[in-house]
Amino acid sequence: MTGSMASVPRAQSSAYATAQHQFDAAAEALHLNDSLRARLREVKRELVVHFPLEFDDGHFEVFTGYRVQHSIARGPAKGGLRYSASTTMDDMRAFAMLMTWKAAVVNLPFGGAKGGVTVDPKRLSDGELERLTRRFTTEIALLVGPNKDVPAPDLGTDARVMSWIMDTLSMHAGHSLPAAVTGKPIDIGGSAGRESSTGRGLASVTVEALRDASMRVDGASVAIQGFGQVGSHAARLFAAHGCRIVAVSDSGGGVYRAGGIDLPTLRAVRREGGRLSESGAGDRITNAELIELDVDLLVPAAVESQIRADNVPRVRARMVAEGANAPVTAAADQVLHDRGVVVVPDILANSGGVIVSYFELVQDLQAFFWAAGEVNTKLDNIIMRSYHQVREEAVARGGSLRDAAYRIAVGKVARATAVRGIYP
Ligand code: NAD
Repeated sequence: MTGSMASVPRAQSSAYATAQHQFDAAAEALHLNDSLRARLREVKRELVVHFPLEFDDGHFEVFTGYRVQHSIARGPAKGGLRYSASTTMDDMRAFAMLMTWKAAVVNLPFGGAKGGVTVDPKRLSDGELERLTRRFTTEIALLVGPNKDVPAPDLGTDARVMSWIMDTLSMHAGHSLPAAVTGKPIDIGGSAGRESSTGRGLASVTVEALRDASMRVDGASVAIQGFGQVGSHAARLFAAHGCRIVAVSDSGGGVYRAGGIDLPTLRAVRREGGRLSESGAGDRITNAELIELDVDLLVPAAVESQIRADNVPRVRARMVAEGANAPVTAAADQVLHDRGVVVVPDILANSGGVIVSYFELVQDLQAFFWAAGEVNTKLDNIIMRSYHQVREEAVARGGSLRDAAYRIAVGKVARATAVRGIYP
């Protein structure tokens, strides 16, 4: 393959069609045989559940949840659970496939999965959220569990949700199952450094990519969309590298300040459940304006499809680091590549979370826990080694960092799938 992945045909615009298209391009470059292509371009298993929740005021509603496994060729399925009003089966399939490639590109012994519930968690009380989580866990217990399929936090879920899942599965088993989920609180077998891991890995690889592109790190202007588990830690760590965080947003918009934003002010607003746009830390901007800012580095760390064919002509950032999954559509990716804008691809850029999830499982299984310093050093070793492999592949065989990451990841999963053969 020479150029970057070609744009997805107009008729195939869903997240899953995009993921399959990216796979097809890598499969073509790797000359995969038809059998492997057919097996890897579809997800392996998908479960849809409909279940009732009793609200605090006594009324009932039925919710829909999903768990999808794309591949288990390289190990147990691994992937996040998302609570979002816009969660669809199509997204779950796409993100399960992305998880397979993400685990492979950083060489973890996992397959890929994704799941979630179509719900806006902000409309639930704490009690409602806990009951929804415990019932959803029971519904998907057919598939999930230690050594089978291990969930983790994602959009709209956190360590507290993971502890309810762990407790529910443990109650069913009659004994404690710490290795049933990752991203747990440290008190029940979580890992030091898990909360900040995705943001940390993102900052480490992106700073290296800035240096490789001969761009400044000290004083580099950075705009970050999303100030959750990924964006808030990424902001802190980019600032620690000397970058200037000029814009930050959440779902209600954000703030811009050319001289740099005071991050502790934003963290305090977030802790208290306030809106960043009302923090007074800078001039108010919309999410659309943030994406189009004239900055050195743009970090979409919220939701998918934020840089698309319609707004990519106005994107002025010199580099894009994908904190979120699939924030750049295939068509926009091609435009950025043609303009020479480096995109650090999601399957590498945000892999810090699954790397430390892997460390969490290793620690749970050994019942022996590491200090934060050891976790962070091991995370940096794995993600930097993977970044250099991806960059060397891109230099040697051409294409974007995403093309290179896909060739490495799909190649590993294809070899594992081939060597296991077809049962029976
Ligand atoms: P989170 O729920 O902790 O935070 C999400 C942030 O994005 C919040 O600030 C929220 O207000 C904002 N947001 C939500 N919808 C938005 C919208 N439409 N426009 C702008 N901002 C919006 O979630 P997170 O865990 O930080 O995940 C963010 C992204 O990173 C997701 O795409 C997720 O799949 C991906 N990701 C997360 C992890 C992880 O370890 N948490 C790992 C890999 C990838």
